[in-house]
Amino acid sequence: MKHKCPICKVETDSAVHADFPFCSERCRERDLGNWASEKYVVSDPIFDEEEITGDKRKTILLDLDEPNDSKH
Ligand SMILES: [Zn+2]
Repeated sequence: MKHKCPICKVETDSAVHADFPFCSERCRERDLGNWASEKYVVSDPIFDEEEITGDKRKTILLDLDEPNDSKH
């Protein structure tokens, strides 16, 4: 299984690197440091956007249903 080190983008291999997906213990510790300093909070809005998109789809479906009901 191959992946890229989230810290330095070096290609890593689960069969070779004990700290997979990180290339080294240093990068793994740096990642933990990122979590501790809440740098990863930046990635949270991605989940919010997905929820907003889901709400919009629901609204569109409701708008399409209403005219059909009035014709009946
Ligand atoms: Zn690395």
